[in-house]
Amino acid sequence: MAKHNCAICGAEIGLMSEQKLVDGNFICRKVCSKKTFKIFDKVEATLCDVTAHIEQVEKGTRIWNELLLPLKKAKDKTQKLKCLGTGGPLLYVSPSTGLVALVETNYKFFLFGKTQRACVYRLADLVKYDYEEEKVKGSDGKTETKEYCAMMFKDTAGMYGFRLGVGNSKSYESMAKYFDTLFGIQKTLGNTFKNAKRQMDAIKSFATAAKAAAKGTLDEEQAAATIGALDASVYGDRTEWIKKADEALAAFR
Ligand SMILES: [Zn+2]
Repeated sequence: MAKHNCAICGAEIGLMSEQKLVDGNFICRKVCSKKTFKIFDKVEATLCDVTAHIEQVEKGTRIWNELLLPLKKAKDKTQKLKCLGTGGPLLYVSPSTGLVALVETNYKFFLFGKTQRACVYRLADLVKYDYEEEKVKGSDGKTETKEYCAMMFKDTAGMYGFRLGVGNSKSYESMAKYFDTLFGIQKTLGNTFKNAKRQMDAIKSFATAAKAAAKGTLDEEQAAATIGALDASVYGDRTEWIKKADEALAAFR
């Protein structure tokens, strides 16, 4: 049986210690595979995806340790982190820096110490936080429903999407509401005037563009304005979040 070499560190790897990637490359389980998050899907990843994710974890862990972890104990309430999720990695939201960290904790020797690694994202890039459930069969043969918040971040290299475990649909709802509030998105009937107006503007703008398109007079500027208006009604206004995150990340470039 031919032995392979790890595409990252070059080590010779046997059948039991190799991890095959979707593009046919192999990486070693002993060192390189361990640098990824446990929830990172290596079977579906290319070598490029894996190296981008490893870089993301290295940088994210630095940002977590130097910038975000100290805020966990902040006396100033406005600086505090909000912890979300259950089970696997937890999500820490930092409204004061505009950043979000997915943190994986590994306990070393029983209770003696732990290590934490993180993927850090800009809150402004969070484009999806949908409810998902999965039925899994336990070892006792009973089916159990696992509930998640499926999250996705745009323009992100490495692991740009993951499922965060939630206790139940109620805790998912309060999580979704928390993000909606941060982005100024109102999905409930109790729409504020501002949001109702914003959505009306989006609809009007879209209707105008549709008419113009039908007449063949839609210009690029008009099209861009329409997309912008729709974006704002779906994703909220993220200008402030982008500004905050970029200021916080400037030190880590
Ligand atoms: Zn390796």
